[in-house]
Amino acid sequence: MNDLLIDNATVVTLDSQRRIVPGGAVLIRRGVIEEVGPSAKVSKKAEGVRRLDAEGNVVLPGYICVHHHLYSTFSRGISLDGYAPRNFSQILKGLWWKLDRTLQEQDILWSAYPSLVECIRRGTTTIVDHHESQSFQSGSLDVLQVAVQKAGVRAVLALGVSDRYGRAREGIEENERFIKKSTAFPSDWIAPMAGLHASFTVEEDTLRAVSDLARRYGVGVHAHAAEDVYDQSHCLRRYKKRVLERFDQAGLLNGKTLLAHCIHVNRSEMRRMAEKGVSVAHNPESNMNNAVGAARLLELMKEGICVGLGTDGMSSDMPSQARAAYLLQRHARRDPRAAFAEACGMLLENNARIIEKAAGWKVGALQKGSLGDAIVVRYIPPTPLNADNFYGHLMFGLGQASVLDTVSGGEILMKKGRILRFDEQEVMGKARETAAKFWKKFENAN
Ligand SMILES: [Zn+2]
Repeated sequence: MNDLLIDNATVVTLDSQRRIVPGGAVLIRRGVIEEVGPSAKVSKKAEGVRRLDAEGNVVLPGYICVHHHLYSTFSRGISLDGYAPRNFSQILKGLWWKLDRTLQEQDILWSAYPSLVECIRRGTTTIVDHHESQSFQSGSLDVLQVAVQKAGVRAVLALGVSDRYGRAREGIEENERFIKKSTAFPSDWIAPMAGLHASFTVEEDTLRAVSDLARRYGVGVHAHAAEDVYDQSHCLRRYKKRVLERFDQAGLLNGKTLLAHCIHVNRSEMRRMAEKGVSVAHNPESNMNNAVGAARLLELMKEGICVGLGTDGMSSDMPSQARAAYLLQRHARRDPRAAFAEACGMLLENNARIIEKAAGWKVGALQKGSLGDAIVVRYIPPTPLNADNFYGHLMFGLGQASVLDTVSGGEILMKKGRILRFDEQEVMGKARETAAKFWKKFENAN
């Protein structure tokens, strides 16, 4: 079970040696990588093992997304009935908060599946999800667990606690229940974090309760921070301090904390984050879509902060985020030298570090001992491909190429473009049916 030989491939290891092995193979046993190297050598050790022929294409480790919202699927094509939000607060109130307080159990389940199908199709085998469903909180993380396990995608799950509808207590209890359950039986597939929406929607008691919960169970907090300038102005007005100072004083910041966005943070907040070992999830496509500004990536990284990449639920396509990240920096800085290698490093190194800190999983490299997550990408290099120019291939061709096969823990989730664990047509049909009903509820919601 879960033994697999992927061969006839150009293997891009993304391990510390940054090897590219033409005519290479990856041997996975019991879900873990046993050997990577030339096919002739590796296949000798793989007698009787199931074989996946990469047909001369490129094999990479599965991609990682460190900030997702699986529930966001049902916003695709939704009508806002002429409502045209002018700023971030209006986007939240008129779309996202209305959407998340309309979600019920079946909506959570059937909005998660299409996002997970897209993960498999785009080669994203590990995600960190930040869930919100204000009218269905108790048990919501179990619903997501059902979906991610059915899909075969590794997931770190949390529910974003918020006081915006007076239901923070219920949210904290759901996080605690799920953390207790998941830490009692640690696995390589599901791990918990303590979720918090954002500074501007949580009262002091709630903030401290989430911080306390995370500390008691030794898990990290996953929250949004300084996504829009409003988060800072609210904090300064209400608490006479900045967001990161507020979080720090509540004991929220440590080496397991993951903060999404951090666009409007100043130098002293960056230092505070660096000192505490906080990680940041940068979501460039979402930031541009919401017109909230460009994170100062290079400054964050210069301070020593581990910055990774997420989609914020806009898609499940990770190379696309890396491309958006460097393009946004170049545009914002008017500097054609900026952020290319940094954006690739965020995707290929920092995301793996963030997962290791949050869940203890070794992913993101094809090397002995790492979890057996790999993808076959239909890419025949038009120019010489080597370890020194790999980023160029990734950003200008490989990253946009079709993923043919997706393997997670040695199991083939998608083979030559066909998803194996479930009938994709059937799942998407059920999702559309549920979405149509959901849109009616959304229309009638206040
Ligand atoms: Zn988010």
